[in-house]
Amino acid sequence: MSTQPYRLVYYSRNRIATDPAAAIREILEASRRNNTRVGVTGALMFNSGCFGQILEGPREAVEATFERIQRDARHGDVSLLDFKPVPARSFDEWSMAFVGVRKDDEARYGDLGRETGFDPSRMSSDTLFELLHGLTQSEEFGS
Ligand code: FAD
Repeated sequence: MSTQPYRLVYYSRNRIATDPAAAIREILEASRRNNTRVGVTGALMFNSGCFGQILEGPREAVEATFERIQRDARHGDVSLLDFKPVPARSFDEWSMAFVGVRKDDEARYGDLGRETGFDPSRMSSDTLFELLHGLTQSEEFGS
């Protein structure tokens, strides 16, 4: 049986009516609990009313997790950008990292920030991947 990890990238539109911070906390708690159990890792971004997320891990686990996520009424218009085998995981330290965009990120990612407004719905799968990977690798991330 192949153990090659798969990577899935999507974005979606926020449908949380009140207090997104509390809802995102609940989403992250459930994500970290469930993803740890099935060997899924990744990162979630929320900006400009959209979510962008990367899931990686065994193909069946990523598919089952994404099926559940798609049925969640806290977001909608879920758009799959990419789903493919990759040589290795890129978020192996994170059952689900959360990325919020800060002012100094806009300076650091100047061109990208200007071109996309850090809005996941305006990014290609490669751009979203590079942004989330870059931010989770930065020294101050997670502190
Ligand atoms: P539970 O323990 O049953 O629920 C956890 C909390 O969320 C509870 O407070 C519950 O009331 C609330 N809740 C659960 N489902 C809903 C819902 N549909 N609408 C409103 N409130 C709800 N799950 C993962 O396992 N991994 C992920 O990576 C992941 N990423 C997500 C990304 C986004 C953008 C969104 C919107 C959801 C994501 N989820 C993820 C959550 C997923 O959709 C399911 O809600 C979750 O997996 C259910 O797990 P559970 O049965 O253990 O949660």
